[in-house]
Amino acid sequence: MTTPRIYKTEAIVLRQRKLGEAGKIVTLYTPNYGKLDAVAKGVRRPKSRLAGHLEVLTHTMVMLAQGRNLDVVSQAQAMESFASLRADLHRLSRALYAVELVDRFSPEGAESYHVFQLLLATLRRLAAARNVDTVLRYLEMGLLSLAGFQPQLAHCVRCERSLPAAPNHFGPAAGGVLCPSCEPKVAGSRPLSLNALKVMRLLQSGSFGEVSRVRIDPGLGQEIEMHLRAYLVHVLERDVRSAAFIDRLRREDFWQPAGVSS
Ligand SMILES: [Zn+2]
Repeated sequence: MTTPRIYKTEAIVLRQRKLGEAGKIVTLYTPNYGKLDAVAKGVRRPKSRLAGHLEVLTHTMVMLAQGRNLDVVSQAQAMESFASLRADLHRLSRALYAVELVDRFSPEGAESYHVFQLLLATLRRLAAARNVDTVLRYLEMGLLSLAGFQPQLAHCVRCERSLPAAPNHFGPAAGGVLCPSCEPKVAGSRPLSLNALKVMRLLQSGSFGEVSRVRIDPGLGQEIEMHLRAYLVHVLERDVRSAAFIDRLRREDFWQPAGVSS
């Protein structure tokens, strides 16, 4: 899409970095222009009228002017600031993981409308949902599909025969599920329970409403997370910083405030 000289767009703020004395470069995700970096001049000054409208995670409406290198934010108005996400470390850590994952998955100029909608829905769900980890698994599977990397879950990815209703294996490098006879021939595959396969299929083809009605116990949740994490690492060729952040929070066992169930 050709970008006009001055344009208005909604956006989600993925990240920021400092620029000069008082400015920032903000990385925005937009429905029509994809991911873009823009300059926010003076935003670190106390009286900046942009400050507060360009914080990370904010769903905002921005006016941008084309610059020589980067576009420049001339106005910003927050539409949703997700205060309930920021007030809860448990939810905040997952929201930061969500924006980082979208950032890593999205080269500049890539298809963006569906990714934008998925990210916005994810932030809204993370602000309210009971099972925040299911929200992340749904985002991960959705991003993989939108980027053309959906894992093969319908049949064995190697011999293409249908899968037995028994434990199989998941091979990140193979790109999907391996039947018991193919599994020994592929390095790096891990056991995949039948329940995990069923939930992963639902994550791939169901609506979020359907997925959220399934009861996923912690052990099953961890198994699915491990398979998707291994596959994402394979696809992205490096781990995601916020994923390590979530692991650390989980290990230190302070991420789950009393009364908040995951
Ligand atoms: Zn096979």
